[in-house]
Amino acid sequence: MADGLESESRKLLGRLRDTMAEQAAGQERLDKITHLTADSMGTEVCSIYLFRDTETLELCATQGLNPEAVHETRMKLGEGLVGRVARTGKTVNAADAPSAPGFRYMPETGEEIYSSFLGVPIQRLGEKLGVLVVQSKQAREFSADEVYALEVVAMVLAEMTELGAFVGEGAALSARHTQPVMLRGSTGQEGTAMGSVWLHEPRVVVTNLVADDPEKERERLRKAVDDLRISVDQMLAGANSDGEEVQVLEAYRMFANSKGWMRRMEEDIDRGLSAEAAVEKEQSQARARMSQVADAYLRERLHDLDDLSNRLLRILTGQGRETGSDMPGDPILIARNIGPGELLEYGRSLKGIVLEEGSVGSHAAIVARALAIPLVIHANRITNEALNGDHIMVDGDQGIVHLRPDDTVATAFRDKMAMQAEAQERYASIRDTACVTKDGQRIELHMNAGLMADLPSLESSGAEGVGLFRTELQFLVRNQMPRRTELANIYARVLDAAKGKRVVFRTLDIGSDKVLPYMKPQDEPNPALGWRAIRVGLDKPGVLRMQLQALIRAANGRPLSIMFPFVAEDSEFADARAEMDKVLAREERLGHPVPSRLEVGAMLETPSLAFASKRFFSEVEFLSIGGNDLKQFFYAADRENERVRRRYDTLNASFLNFLEGIVGRCTVSGTRLSFCGEDAGRPVEALCLAAIGFRTLSMRPASIGPVKSILMKTDLGEVRKALHAARDLGEQNMRGVVMEHLRNNGWAVT
Ligand code: PEP
Ligand code: MG
Repeated sequence: MADGLESESRKLLGRLRDTMAEQAAGQERLDKITHLTADSMGTEVCSIYLFRDTETLELCATQGLNPEAVHETRMKLGEGLVGRVARTGKTVNAADAPSAPGFRYMPETGEEIYSSFLGVPIQRLGEKLGVLVVQSKQAREFSADEVYALEVVAMVLAEMTELGAFVGEGAALSARHTQPVMLRGSTGQEGTAMGSVWLHEPRVVVTNLVADDPEKERERLRKAVDDLRISVDQMLAGANSDGEEVQVLEAYRMFANSKGWMRRMEEDIDRGLSAEAAVEKEQSQARARMSQVADAYLRERLHDLDDLSNRLLRILTGQGRETGSDMPGDPILIARNIGPGELLEYGRSLKGIVLEEGSVGSHAAIVARALAIPLVIHANRITNEALNGDHIMVDGDQGIVHLRPDDTVATAFRDKMAMQAEAQERYASIRDTACVTKDGQRIELHMNAGLMADLPSLESSGAEGVGLFRTELQFLVRNQMPRRTELANIYARVLDAAKGKRVVFRTLDIGSDKVLPYMKPQDEPNPALGWRAIRVGLDKPGVLRMQLQALIRAANGRPLSIMFPFVAEDSEFADARAEMDKVLAREERLGHPVPSRLEVGAMLETPSLAFASKRFFSEVEFLSIGGNDLKQFFYAADRENERVRRRYDTLNASFLNFLEGIVGRCTVSGTRLSFCGEDAGRPVEALCLAAIGFRTLSMRPASIGPVKSILMKTDLGEVRKALHAARDLGEQNMRGVVMEHLRNNGWAVT
């Protein structure tokens, strides 16, 4: 790079910094920047276009174009050359702009006399803020150095925007991070919460963008990168050698030692940026690429670089080291994504969680569900929009987030929460009452669990037992395989907490969406139909045996209920049962007390098992319907796929008929039957399940109150009659039928 240009660039940045330091209104600052930039770049025109809303750009300041056009000229994203820069996030460098593809002439600006055009995006950490343009009469292409210089100015502009430098009387921009924002995501866990933002990874705010002494900044950067390398090496030394974590850390190490990365940052410093501004410039560009790269592997690597840049920024600024003790009293956790272990560390102190990524079946979602913390996933931009301490309302039912809500929204939200709290009080008043319907049918309500954190809910929800203990959660939240004694201790504590109530332990249900971090991932074309649950248990019985031993030891002579997940045919159950018998005999030989009563059952999660032999139905001691999986296979609609997972209704006549058939078979064989999928916890669904003959339902603890409340006020026989009458008439939509029935019986349902 030419020395002259370098010092010119430093001079310009120095002036920009002074502009920033001066007491001036936002508009005045913008005007000054266009003036300084045009002057320094030797162009007749410099203009700043900023986003008015996500689709519209506005000319906010100019040197050289008609001043009357400021705040008047607007264009849509993608419109004209400016719109093209904004849409693609890429620089446009045209010697003869009017003949460049996409050029659109804005007569009010008087730009027709300018031939060459250089436009660069103003963006901060992947967020598009606007476009910075220089134009000149002379038809020439700008040199790489000039492009680079303008990019540096754009970066400083982006940072200044972030710091609120352009806010004020008659200003171009309203203050960032002060306006109410509503974000629409998806439900990860139902429930509502309000509180204050707590960023899992607080954003680092860079205030010293420009530096006078490049040598000093280079030294600061070098020292910080050294520290970063040491910390990555330390993390690597402590990581499990064959875990996925090592792969990520290896990628970190590669970036931390990357000469290209370092060189680019040093060049930025030579241009006049501070060390932290240089890191952030590279990070912003990586983020911009991230949104354009389709290849999943490459995107992951860009993510790694992003994480690494954050670490480096924290080292340089000393920011972002808040500890749990700084957390507000009503924290709503905001993160791009979070692992189950990290989430468990926060535990129940969180009022709500909002993730930019995540999925319904992710481990974090499983943990949030277990802890009954409202969770919204796919809340795009939340980590860019939210600042620590911002007021926030989370509607997990609708998948909506209100950040810095205005009074009207806040009041409506509070009313909704108050109504929910009232309902909770009503549920608490029936907590210790057995669930008997209006026509005298006794329905047992159990809870689903999987973490130690669930256990207090046994008391508080009024559950009659644990109908499904998902043992895989204990495996998922660790970064190495738990040992037998560790598991035995956990299971013993579960049984202690249950105080004699029945607990049904489901053996390890991994595979499909539940991938253990320390097991070799299987590259399967269709994991939901793949090597999972009991299939893994039977093919590699070591872990299954270890788990069965742990369960027997935990029971220590007490009654024990065990069920095998995802049994698709008689023989799988017979084989699993045989494993159980072998383990039992061995434990007995070793002198361990055997359970006073051992019940062994299966989950019915594939349609095939509904058609199993009579012998199977009489041999299996109990069956529990895993409705989440059963429904996905019944309708061939992936439960993880947002596009199809809500497409088919549980209350469609075909599915209810199918379930009723299973109830019939269990009645004939005298097999104890329950339903433990998510639908059991939805009041209207639960009502229909009870109406077609289910007498045991297992659900999330928070659902027990609402389900019990509706069941106790309903005549099940009447609902059953209504369903059967409609079915005989060929009606498919049983939801409509039951809703109508409820309305006719005085329920205010919509
Ligand atoms: C189910 O499939 O309904 C079930 C309860 O199991 P999981 O959701 O853990 O797969
Ligand atoms: Mg299942």
